[in-house]
Amino acid sequence: MTLESELADLGVDVSTDRELLLKVSSDWSRMSPVLQDKLPPGRYVADLVVRPTSAQQVADVLAVAYRQDVPVTPRGAGTGNYGQATPFDGGIVLDLRGLDTVEVTGETVRAGAGAKLTTVDEVARAAGRDVWIFPSTKGSTVGGFVGGGSAGTGTIEHRTTSDGFVVSAVVAPMDGSGSLFTVSGAELEPFVHTYGVTGVLVEVEIRTDPAREWAAVYGSFGSYADLVAVHRTLTTLSVAPRLASGDEPALVPTLPVDLDPARWSLRVIAEASTVDEVTARIRTHGEVVRVARDYAETDVLSGMSYNHPVYFLQQAAPQPRLFHIESSGTPLWDDPDAVRACYPGPVHLHLELFQHGPGAMIVAEYTGEADLLAGMDRLEAIGVGVHSPHQWYVDRNVELARETARRTDPKGLLNPGKLVDAPPVDSRVNIGVVR
Ligand SMILES: Cc1cc2nc3c(=O)[nH]c(=O)nc-3n(C[C@H](O)[C@H](O)[C@H](O)COP(=O)(O)OP(=O)(O)OC[C@H]3O[C@@H](n4cnc5c(N)ncnc54)[C@H](O)[C@@H]3O)c2cc1C
Repeated sequence: MTLESELADLGVDVSTDRELLLKVSSDWSRMSPVLQDKLPPGRYVADLVVRPTSAQQVADVLAVAYRQDVPVTPRGAGTGNYGQATPFDGGIVLDLRGLDTVEVTGETVRAGAGAKLTTVDEVARAAGRDVWIFPSTKGSTVGGFVGGGSAGTGTIEHRTTSDGFVVSAVVAPMDGSGSLFTVSGAELEPFVHTYGVTGVLVEVEIRTDPAREWAAVYGSFGSYADLVAVHRTLTTLSVAPRLASGDEPALVPTLPVDLDPARWSLRVIAEASTVDEVTARIRTHGEVVRVARDYAETDVLSGMSYNHPVYFLQQAAPQPRLFHIESSGTPLWDDPDAVRACYPGPVHLHLELFQHGPGAMIVAEYTGEADLLAGMDRLEAIGVGVHSPHQWYVDRNVELARETARRTDPKGLLNPGKLVDAPPVDSRVNIGVVR
């Protein structure tokens, strides 16, 4: 029996449409000039896209793929920016968006891996709960966020997806069993941020808080030092803000809101009772531009955080090509000139706030991979932690993932090429974890 007919017998949707295959075979790695060159569209293309609609169908598809030695690359919304959903060995791209159930169960939300975080958040809020963390790509899937994401709105209080965000997960292994298993607690580690190489997440249970009222607060400043003077105080509020993003004038006009392009911008998602304190602190160094006590307005701020300002700048100024480095550490506040000096040409900082200090997307002109890597060493030398978004290797819990995959994917068919002994461009630190 051919692979296609075996899959069709399972009742899953199977497509070999070339346009669709091209689309699902690449992700947002196009944000990286290194990955643009290494993973151009059309170089690595799946043979089939399979769209299951139930957990058991996922397990059944994996059993067929195991029997026929066919690689399977799980995929959510394809917003990952490390090329980590690229099907290097062809085979099946498993589009999980059909698994989209969402249920609030007391203090947690149980969601099908393909449920969008917009929906998860909407359902949680309607039930009086706040999802701990979601990325600036709120249209991405919860399975993709757990499988490939890391931080976002909520990170100041709750850190990363590896810090208790996931309560349990139902996993489909690639071991020929056609079965599912559930993991929780410490057992979850090898399944979080490991790009599906240890198993396909079919359902995840994530943590929530009682819903709070959130407000979007915009401030503006005449200098980076003034912006930082406020940014660095925001972890001391009585309720941690959900987000605190800052941008230089070079990035401000590219943001999809009307802000003074000559001033440094601060955007805070603040809990309602702390708004007066936030605005008072902003006024000591700059101006309060706007306060919107409306949840939908806070989503606008989320959509201008993390990698998004880099993307907006790349769109506004496609040449010369720009790259970014994910970074963290107090030199971003204390010595921005030393940070900028790590790369030639104009270097821009998009600031975020973590629990114990600042993070930033450092944006510079691309002059080649060797130059980019050399700058990472210079950043480390001045005490900045770096993570490279220019490589597709599993770089969190690598040894544990390898050990787990020996059991859950003995033939190495899950998302091939992403799990190696030692990632060549080693990540050193995970974004959201400040040293
Ligand atoms: C402009 C921009 C902004 C971004 N902002 C953020 C941000 O704020 N925070 C952040 O953490 N990330 C961010 N990202 C990265 C990305 O959006 C997140 O990783 C996202 O949550 C991925 O979800 P997805 O559904 O698109 O997953 P995909 O891109 O489809 O997949 C991501 C990885 O997970 C694997 N995977 C997908 N589904 C599953 C599953 N069910 N089981 C196992 N493995 C699976 C894939 O194989 C792939 O390796 C950003 C990216 C861009 C382009």
